[in-house]
Amino acid sequence: MADYDLAIIGGGLNGVSIARDAAGRGLRVILLEQGDLGSAASAASPRLVHGDLAVLERRGFGRVRTALAERDIWLRIAPHLVRPMRFAIPAHSDERPPWLLRTGLWLYDRLASRSGLPGAATVDVTHHPLGNALKRPFGTAFEYSDCVADDSRLVIANAVDAAERGADIRTGARCVRADRSEIWRLAAIDRGRRQVITARALVNASGAWTASVAETILRLPPLRAGVMQISQIVVRRLFETDNVYVFQNSDRRLIFASPYERDFTLIGTVGHAFKGNPAAVSMAAADVAYLCDAANRYFRERVEPSDVIRTISGANLSLDPASRRAARDGAMTFDARRRKAPLLTIFGGDVTTSRLRAERAVSKLTPFYPMSPRWTAQAPLPGGDFAWARFDAEVDRARERWRFLGEAEAQRLVGAYGSRLAAMLGDARDRADLGPAFGPALTGAEVRYLMTKEWARFPDDILWRRSKLGLTMTSAEHDALAAYMAKATPGGADNPGATRGGTVEPEPIRR
Ligand SMILES: Cc1cc2nc3c(=O)[nH]c(=O)nc-3n(C[C@H](O)[C@H](O)[C@H](O)COP(=O)(O)OP(=O)(O)OC[C@H]3O[C@@H](n4cnc5c(N)ncnc54)[C@H](O)[C@@H]3O)c2cc1C
Repeated sequence: MADYDLAIIGGGLNGVSIARDAAGRGLRVILLEQGDLGSAASAASPRLVHGDLAVLERRGFGRVRTALAERDIWLRIAPHLVRPMRFAIPAHSDERPPWLLRTGLWLYDRLASRSGLPGAATVDVTHHPLGNALKRPFGTAFEYSDCVADDSRLVIANAVDAAERGADIRTGARCVRADRSEIWRLAAIDRGRRQVITARALVNASGAWTASVAETILRLPPLRAGVMQISQIVVRRLFETDNVYVFQNSDRRLIFASPYERDFTLIGTVGHAFKGNPAAVSMAAADVAYLCDAANRYFRERVEPSDVIRTISGANLSLDPASRRAARDGAMTFDARRRKAPLLTIFGGDVTTSRLRAERAVSKLTPFYPMSPRWTAQAPLPGGDFAWARFDAEVDRARERWRFLGEAEAQRLVGAYGSRLAAMLGDARDRADLGPAFGPALTGAEVRYLMTKEWARFPDDILWRRSKLGLTMTSAEHDALAAYMAKATPGGADNPGATRGGTVEPEPIRR
């Protein structure tokens, strides 16, 4: 008898989505993540939940329809983390003709027939706030609806849900060996301790490491795939309106400029083949210049490489490393030989279809174990139990209950935690009840919540993944946070990171 029904290597969006789906269908699940959840490619997505106009342009109508249906599901199950926005494509005389854009967006709306989001419209930007940030020659823009997601928090929310449904989520736990017979026998270095874990099936969802995990840990023939990287830049806020600009670049690619954490703008993406250590992927100066040039074709205010506050890069395996599309599309293979425990390999793919991808992945295991039917399209992610149209009402409600919260602060907290905010702030009546402050935005109550409920162990886990407060934090505040976290006991009773139970026994590993 194996300890678990399903073991998953990798705590990126693919791994945690599969953990959530499988745990909710009644499987005994363990997930091993060598670092922090969502610390690799999943933190570097373009943060879009969309049908993807680039796919529409290639006539992938079925795929666009599927992705738009998923967009609706995200709005229903994660209204705090996935938010509708108006996207605006300024018409450029050297790029796609206006009739083509108008027709494309008309079709896009038809493919999203049940969304409830406002349809496409033509805007005279000479008399519209959308035009304020744009260079003078732009007279017309095409507006349409799509969504923006907090990609890192989607990873965490999936992991929290998986854990609440019984999954054993382990961070700082690296799988170092896997032996296959009728069950899998895995060896992991779990926070410095060697452990052996047995499971009836294995998922390799290790992102850019998928090929090396397959070759060196699972000892399988090499995968024919390469690694692609994606990068974006963060600059100070370039426009006041709450919309996403979509710029047609001279190479026909679409470049997105989105509001980012209130005071910043995120511009992306650029991608190419990557060689090297996926844990140390960084953005080349030429890529930074490419995105600045793309923005400077449209924005009145110039963006120089020296204005870049942060670069965001991630790498993932791609069946065709010459094509960014292949990384976005992702891949899944299922190996179920006789008398061998099944192995599912999954990598890449976009945020929009990650829920569906996980559902399909877990469904491949149905011949092997009894499990309950698909469920993830109906059940809200933790904190997402309200209608997306009531987001502002949730913010107002939070401000009524915790009167010391400012508007922007309440927006951030509801956007990150949804209705789970109550578990963090409890009956606090004023700021003093929230413990020490690490800068104007981060309180001891939030730090403690993230350490006890969301596996945060180090300052970066909080400042760059569970929030983006690192953008505004001073080094003195960072040091105070580090000292506070070092003193806080991660072994508290309800700390998910401290849960090391189940049937797993420490055992020396013979090599
Ligand atoms: C080139 C490129 C293009 C992209 N385009 C899009 C796009 O258009 N739209 C979009 O939404 N997203 C895009 N993305 C991002 C996409 O969101 C992610 O690829 C997706 O979230 C899936 O990530 P993952 O789970 O496969 O990998 P990751 O997030 O990288 O997760 C893999 C995890 O496995 C862990 N791991 C590795 N080895 C081990 C081990 N031995 N033991 C334990 N843990 C291990 C790693 O630490 C890592 O956290 C793109 C990404 C890339 C690289």
